[in-house]
Amino acid sequence: MASNGAGLLNVAIIGAGPAGYYAAEALTTGEHAVHVDIIDRLPTPFGLIRAGVAPDHQSIKNVSRRYEATNTRENVRFVGNLALGRDITLAELKDLYDAVVLATGAGKDRPLGIEGEDLAGVIGSAAFVGWYNAHPDFKDLNPDLRVASVAVIGNGNVAIDVARVLAKTASEMASSDLADHAANNIHGSPIRDIHILGRRGPLEASFTPKELGELNQLENCVALVDPAQLPDASTDEKLSGAPKKNMAALRIMAANKPDSKPVRLHVQFYRRPMAIMGEKCVCGIRLEETRVEDGTCIGTGVTEVLPAGLVVPCIGYRTSPIRDVPYSERYGHFENEDGLISDGLYCVGWARRGPTGTIGTNKPDGVEVANKILSEVSPSGKEGRDGLDRIVRERDLHIVTFQSWKKIEAMETSSARDGAPRKKLVDVGEMVRIAES
Ligand code: NAP
Repeated sequence: MASNGAGLLNVAIIGAGPAGYYAAEALTTGEHAVHVDIIDRLPTPFGLIRAGVAPDHQSIKNVSRRYEATNTRENVRFVGNLALGRDITLAELKDLYDAVVLATGAGKDRPLGIEGEDLAGVIGSAAFVGWYNAHPDFKDLNPDLRVASVAVIGNGNVAIDVARVLAKTASEMASSDLADHAANNIHGSPIRDIHILGRRGPLEASFTPKELGELNQLENCVALVDPAQLPDASTDEKLSGAPKKNMAALRIMAANKPDSKPVRLHVQFYRRPMAIMGEKCVCGIRLEETRVEDGTCIGTGVTEVLPAGLVVPCIGYRTSPIRDVPYSERYGHFENEDGLISDGLYCVGWARRGPTGTIGTNKPDGVEVANKILSEVSPSGKEGRDGLDRIVRERDLHIVTFQSWKKIEAMETSSARDGAPRKKLVDVGEMVRIAES
């Protein structure tokens, strides 16, 4: 099939994470003649599956097999190590493709907006998770973990991931793909107290029960909750679904003994961060006690300082803006109407709707935007992948194809330690050399 045929729809998807792959799958499932190029600035596909999902949650990562299957379709290509803005502009892509879909996720930390946020030792979850997951952007982060106490801000699953990865022992992480640099640092650290801090109460927390329950099964670390922060036991009968299961896990924590294991994980509610304390490095965090009225967090004026040598805000993410693409500062994602940004320009996933939902939430999102493209955009004889290949040649760009990514993957799996799925490479140059070998 000629890629510049007049009846062929050429689509470029920017971002090879779940949202990008679900959109590609939906675009290429029906009868339409469509070519999709999935472009990523990294030489590795699968976005958050590789660099966001916790290294000890390997079963969640299995979903990448589905994306691999999409990539075996003749009309779908992965084009890695090609960065929008560095190697090619959005205007050039719009000239080459009938539709461009931004599936760039939400890779920046939402700011706390409080004093002391810029101190050394305050590391947002985007960077911290990226570091322990071997994302090349954060390979040199090298956080100072020679601390006794850590404050993890937020009551979502990312806060749980961060606390759990810090709390697990080397043997508990043996079957994970935790980055080597992180394993050396975490497992040699003297951390004794980890605090997960929520500004609202247990019923407002966005933890999911499986993730919260895991905190009760750690080898070396006991999870604790102040019973006074939990509602009266009679409330439990009125609960159902996730809140009921979460409450059951919290009741176990409330009955746990602080000295039963060497490391303590304190799940604390009704604590709002007011300021991060320290001269050059963080030494603590000032918290205000809160109460919740109709779901809203209200300060009581009562404050306390919690000592902490590391603060990891896990309070949500923002999409990185792209020049000339309308962006909502308020919501931290591209301005769009049901995925449409402007003529021929679309967005999916977190770049469309913000950082919420599970990996699977991206599937209906991708299907919806794919259907929109198929109904709104007509093939116009644009060059598509032939034009991209021409630019790659002219600029001597070192792109990574799906076949050459497989060489990187083979290197990672063959050098894994016993029981681990892979030993992740962190250096883009090295990955590209392997891909080209
Ligand atoms: P999240 O679930 O939205 O949680 C963010 C937390 O940050 C909330 O507790 C929020 O409190 C708090 N927060 C926001 N601004 C704050 C501030 N200024 N000060 C103090 N606290 C603040 O987000 P997430 O944990 O980043 O997770 C993102 C998405 O990925 C979620 O849908 C999550 O379920 C998913 N995820 C899933 C898994 C898994 O399934 N294993 C793992 C990781 C992530 P309020 O509620 O009071 O605003």
